Amino acid sequence: GPGDVPVIRATGLVKRFKGHTALDGVDLEVGRGQVLVVIGPSGSGKSTLIRCLNGLEEADGGEIEIEGTPVHRASQADWRTVRQRIGMVFQDYSLFPHMTVMDNLCLAPVRAGHHDRDRARAASAGLLDRVGLRHKADSYPGELSGGQQQRVAIVRALAMKPRAILFDEPTSALDPEMIGEVLNVMRELAREGMTMVVVTHEMGFAREVADAVIFMDQGRVVETAAPADLFETPRHDRTQAFLSMIL
Ligand code: ADP
Ligand code: MG
Repeated sequence: GPGDVPVIRATGLVKRFKGHTALDGVDLEVGRGQVLVVIGPSGSGKSTLIRCLNGLEEADGGEIEIEGTPVHRASQADWRTVRQRIGMVFQDYSLFPHMTVMDNLCLAPVRAGHHDRDRARAASAGLLDRVGLRHKADSYPGELSGGQQQRVAIVRALAMKPRAILFDEPTSALDPEMIGEVLNVMRELAREGMTMVVVTHEMGFAREVADAVIFMDQGRVVETAAPADLFETPRHDRTQAFLSMIL
């Protein structure tokens, strides 16, 4: 039935920068409620993959379907619609620094016409409650810790009621003591059935939460497996070499 259609499906994705091939025929599929973790060395194409899935980069080849709808040849206007359904969380939080936390959360839902201002504020207050940051509604991002900013960035994505959220190294910029509070929010989202693609090297998180882990190297998917299988019995030498470096 329609429930079987993957939320995100990419087939043979290719992305080139000048002479360099950043994605060299990437296939992936994320079913509803699934968590896909992407690992791989620096420069292997993880960010490029995430950015192509969200139309922030235009792929040079291959196909992308969002809930069964092909979008790879979509216009910029259609990609804007895709981005209203697929949330993004970046390493550097990318909150608007001149806007309060509340205004950061309300901006997109009001702009997209999901909510009028009052309803958006009420919904945002509820989301801030969920991550323990209601008391920061009128603060500016610069007044928050990195962990707090990233929790705001996550609920900003949630405010659009996305079909999936893509995370690109969401804890890499955080001090160690703040990583846990962000991973906890992500764990809770996973438990609630949010569809997620997460670039991260937090292996404990991957082991606990991921339905599948993808190992990328040089723009290709080398190996995809359940986390326990990939971590304990990698099939590929390159996967093994990478894991022995980071574990
Ligand atoms: P990762 O996120 O795995 O570290 P990236 O997707 O950022 O890897 O990069 C993959 C490759 O593409 C790298 O060689 C990188 O230098 C190159 N690349 C990424 N973005 C650009 C860009 N905007 N212009 C030119 N090269 C880029
Ligand atoms: Mg990256």
